[in-house]
Formats: sequence, C-alpha cells, structure tokens
Amino acid sequence: MPRGAVAALDQQAWLSRISKGVRAAKEYVGRPDWNFRGDPRIYFYFADAQFICHAPPGNTVYIPLWRMSEDQAPWMHETMHLLIASRRGDWFAESEEAQNAGMPLWLHEGLAESLSIDVDQSAGLAHYSPVTEVPAGEIDQLCRERLEASPAARILAFVGARGKLPELFSEQRVQYAPAFYAASTSFVRHLQRKYGLRQLLQAIDCHDCENEQLERSIGTPLKQAKDDWLDAIGYRDQR
Ligand SMILES: [Zn+2]
Repeated sequence: MPRGAVAALDQQAWLSRISKGVRAAKEYVGRPDWNFRGDPRIYFYFADAQFICHAPPGNTVYIPLWRMSEDQAPWMHETMHLLIASRRGDWFAESEEAQNAGMPLWLHEGLAESLSIDVDQSAGLAHYSPVTEVPAGEIDQLCRERLEASPAARILAFVGARGKLPELFSEQRVQYAPAFYAASTSFVRHLQRKYGLRQLLQAIDCHDCENEQLERSIGTPLKQAKDDWLDAIGYRDQR
C-alpha cells in the first residue's frame, strides 16, 4: 500500500485479520501446505486507485485501498481464487477464445464466493462481497429476485456450463453481473449441500474437465442438477 496511507494501528489490524483468514481458508479447502513456488505467503496489494478487485493466478491479490479502508474489500473471495486454482492448468494462460469457450466461470466464481462466505463465518470474520451482499441464508432468494429482473435465460445458459458470459466483460456488465454471481453462488451452495464440498474442490482442480469431473463424481448431469436447483429455490421460468 502507499507509504503513510494507512495508520500503523489499522495496518496491524488488517494484517492480523488477513493472516487469520488466510490460515483458516487454507485449512478449509484442505490445502494447509498451499504455496506458490515454495512461498506459502499471499501478498495483498492495496493501491490508491479505482479498479476491479482481482487475483491473477499466483500469489497476489489486488484491491483498491479505499475498499479496505471502508471495510468493503472482498479479500477473502480473491484469496479463494488463489487457493483453489487448479494444479493441473491455468485458464488465464490460455487465449481469450479458449477461456470464453471453455472456462466454467460459474464454478470459479460460485465456489470462490461460497467458500469465502463459509470461511469468514467459521473464522468469525466479517464477510464482504460486492455481488452477494446478503447473509448466506438469503442468497437463494436474492438469486431468484435477480434472475427475475435480468435476462435470465441468457445468464442461466452459462451457469453449470462451460464458457464465460461475454456480457460480463462488456458495458452491459451491470445488467448481468448481479444475477450471474448470485446464481453461480446459489447453485454451488446447492451442490455443496447435496453432494459435498469435496466434489466441487476436485472438479475445480480438474483443469479443462471441471464440469465433466463434477458430473462423474455426483453421478448426475449438470443440466439435471441445475433443474433440481432451480426447483429447490423456487425459481419459475420458461424452461
Ligand atoms: Zn471472483
């Protein structure tokens, strides 16, 4: 972070909160020995600028400084992206076309968000997410409401499927992101409740075969699992 931008006491508090959270997160995903090229640390870069929080493959999380100062930083969600990154391959090392066609963004985003909710809860840390800003018990309802207010058929085509919804990376992001993130999180939590977290962690580790691995381990086609989920959350549409 910029020198002098944050009071020493605050820095200390952020450091102890983040250290506690990262330790708990590594345990939760079953990778207590997680490291990047032998370095077990995760680096947090708080820049005094406006940008979308992100964590490219590796060991560094990028978050605007103001988000930390105002307790609006999804630092646990970004940490999760690093901890659950596949050991077998890296989508971001592939071409834009390959990512757009093959990366199951729903699983990456839904699992990072779902895990961050659970770890924050179990470690007694405040959870912050810019996309699912309700308590965990209300995510299904939020998802339903947002789908009803969005181009739902288009969004749902990318949930439980391969590929990145192109609208998320365009000027239309605001019309698509809230429902896409809520739906991905709600679907992942449904799968987690029904089949267990292990199946999801195994799936995301299976680079370029995430959905197929998940279908094998839960013994159900994702299309079927998706219909079960939409019924379970009470979403009615023109399916
Ligand atoms: Zn994310």
